[in-house]
Amino acid sequence: MDIVRRARAMRDACSAARAAGKIVGFVPTMGALHEGHVALVRRVKAQADLTAVSIFVNPTQFNSNEDFTRYPRDLSSDADLLVREGVDLLFAPEPDEMYPPHAATFVEVAGLSDKLEGKSRPGHFRGVATVVTKLFEIVTPHVAAFGQKDAQQALIVKTLVRDLMLNVEVLVLPTKREADGVAMSSRNVLLGVEERRAARAIPRALEAAAAAAEAGERDAGGILGAARTVLGGERLLRLDYLELVDTERLDPVPKLQKETLLVVAVFAGTTRLIDNIVLRS
Ligand code: AMP
Repeated sequence: MDIVRRARAMRDACSAARAAGKIVGFVPTMGALHEGHVALVRRVKAQADLTAVSIFVNPTQFNSNEDFTRYPRDLSSDADLLVREGVDLLFAPEPDEMYPPHAATFVEVAGLSDKLEGKSRPGHFRGVATVVTKLFEIVTPHVAAFGQKDAQQALIVKTLVRDLMLNVEVLVLPTKREADGVAMSSRNVLLGVEERRAARAIPRALEAAAAAAEAGERDAGGILGAARTVLGGERLLRLDYLELVDTERLDPVPKLQKETLLVVAVFAGTTRLIDNIVLRS
């Protein structure tokens, strides 16, 4: 596996592969890799002749410098993992490689970016959309994979690919969970033992809502109430938002639709965790 630090070198390697008729697959990440990332890599690799992964903790998508600094980083063990997975190219640039001094151009997916995560983290999705566009421009993948764990992000990436007419197939893969149901996340290592235990209430709350829906509850109030009761029983979690929204515009819905997204964000101490489930009826 080649570890590439420079955008120009990455672009050259990827465009040479494309010119040789190879299918280029790509998984953008912020590193501190776990089984969720690995699932994306394996899926892309199954379809690609050249598999590229990026590890870039993107400063423009963080709201606080403290969160950016605290974000877990372990490039050497990540690289070992990617070698074992048979990844061909690892792009790991420094921030100043991705953002030249006085960088003034940003990508914004209007509307979708202001809701849910965007409301809690102003500017977050501008950072995400900008860096994904730059990475797509450098790697020019035929196919790229994202996780349903970050459902709003996946929708925003699909929207920017459609609107900017980018020639890349976007795959969205299911959320990988730990044995106790907690969604895998690089941020989980930041949790203290008690916070990690408390985090189990997040998937339990989603399951309680799904059970209520299965039992015939249709009203948002009833479904959200089932989830809120579980979360409320865990004093170490502080709820940021819990919403039942449609899967296209992410607007709140009063009743279950054919497909409805239940999204949650909580703080466990200073660590923010998100999760979601699609309810089908
Ligand atoms: P991140 O490194 O957290 O920015 O995530 C990189 C990619 O991995 C994104 O597309 C995420 O949605 C995806 N991802 C993160 N956690 C999971 C998970 N538990 N299951 C599936 N995909 C995930």
